[in-house]
Amino acid sequence: MTRRLHWFRDDLRLADNPALHAAADDGEVLCLYILDEGGNRRPLGGAARWWLSRSLAQLFESLRAKGGELVLMRGDPATILPDVVEGAGISHVTWTRRYEAAAITLDKRIKETLSDAGVTVTSCNGHLLNEPWEVVSKAGQPMKVFTPYWRAARERGEPGQPLAAPARVSPLKLPKALASQALDLADLALEPQKPDWTGGMREAWTPGEAGAQAQLEDFIGDGLAGYAEDRNRPDKRSTSRLSPHLRFGEISPRQIWHALAMARETGEAAGSDKDAEKFLSELGWREFSYHLLFHNPELASRNYDSRFDAFPWHRDDEALRRWQRGRTGVPLVDAGLRELWTTGWMHNRVRMVVASFLIKHLLQDWRAGEDWFWDTLVDADPANNAASWQWVAGSGADAAPYFRVFNPVTQGETWDPKGDYVRRWVPEIAALPDSLLHQPWEARKAELSAAGITLGETYPKPMVDLAFGRQRALEAFAAIKGS
Ligand code: FAD
Repeated sequence: MTRRLHWFRDDLRLADNPALHAAADDGEVLCLYILDEGGNRRPLGGAARWWLSRSLAQLFESLRAKGGELVLMRGDPATILPDVVEGAGISHVTWTRRYEAAAITLDKRIKETLSDAGVTVTSCNGHLLNEPWEVVSKAGQPMKVFTPYWRAARERGEPGQPLAAPARVSPLKLPKALASQALDLADLALEPQKPDWTGGMREAWTPGEAGAQAQLEDFIGDGLAGYAEDRNRPDKRSTSRLSPHLRFGEISPRQIWHALAMARETGEAAGSDKDAEKFLSELGWREFSYHLLFHNPELASRNYDSRFDAFPWHRDDEALRRWQRGRTGVPLVDAGLRELWTTGWMHNRVRMVVASFLIKHLLQDWRAGEDWFWDTLVDADPANNAASWQWVAGSGADAAPYFRVFNPVTQGETWDPKGDYVRRWVPEIAALPDSLLHQPWEARKAELSAAGITLGETYPKPMVDLAFGRQRALEAFAAIKGS
């Protein structure tokens, strides 16, 4: 009987997991997760570590229900895997591909070592609809613009049908010599203890494969209605909130694709064709971000457009701190950053506004913002985060033009017209009338005092005059435009 090992990474699910499927279809399988904190990859941020902990706990349970086991270890996979493979007499190793440069290098190195030892290694795509190298321009080059990218991706046809979860996962026991390396989930110390700041995240999310499926079902059957218009509204529960589930591979994009296609066929999907197409195109942006990351391995650290290397950033650590804490004095910006701090997630429209405010109004390097999101988002994603920050900065592929400076007041008035979102996250200004809520500095003294507000005391004065900040950004960006 063959002895196999499936190395779980960002694919924490049983269903539609082609690599696990290849391992579990015959013989005994050792299911292994290795917490790799040794510098092979960018360390996970605090919020993502919390998510990972909860997701591993769920995977543990679902494997157990199939008769299997999940073994946890910590260390360098380049050392651990060959040791386990040899010690447990494994002949076949499977994993789902990853796309960051450091992970690709590590995986290649491990594959070589294992292959040299006569072990078969099977790697599969379980994370994307298309591999990043499969969608190319007519001239065979990587794509730089989203619309032709997505058109070319769609022309490749429907993704294959998702696979069911394996009926059974026969466990392969670790031999005694290796058993001491296996850890309990608590030993990984993924969750903060003192203080425990995860209450808001626990309330907001159900990590794990079952949580992802429930979220998808709910969204397709209900939330999708009006998505094309309402997806910009942070005051409504208007988007799928599948991003952390996708990030950790608790659900695959082709499961989402086919669930939606099926629901449309049977009439069970809420919403119009326009809603469904818009939603699919957002999955397209995720694919495009991975395409960019694969072809530009330094996407999180280097300007895609090198003209931005000469950009005159005004580094100001105090300004960055106020932004991080949601104390800028600009209500929509503060609301978004507080939502992020409490729940580990922020609405996409507000992500754009807070990023634009940091980069353009405060002239802080986009990498400082990317880093903060990396630490605080439960969906912190190596491709989406880097590509999106560069998109807002104007330094990215198919990016927002440098002169697009989001005005947080008009953005608030348009997308949070009754102020429900701002009132929820910035309660200290909730008593202002709607017309002043997004710009409390315009209120007269009597209006402020009627709302119980003293600017500069109970709520900050804006850190920057918006018109001045906009003009200063335009001048700074114009300086590098021709370089
Ligand atoms: P939905 O609207 O329901 O979309 C469905 C899925 O499509 C999402 O789950 C996501 O996987 C993908 N998607 C949606 N919008 C985008 C987008 N603009 N770019 C790439 N993929 C998208 N997304 C992350 O997953 N991780 C990040 O670290 C991340 N950082 C971001 C940073 C900034 C500055 C900005 C502006 C956007 C960032 N995004 C990131 C993209 C987007 O904000 C989130 O994917 C989205 O808000 C997730 O919510 P949802 O699942 O409800 O999205």
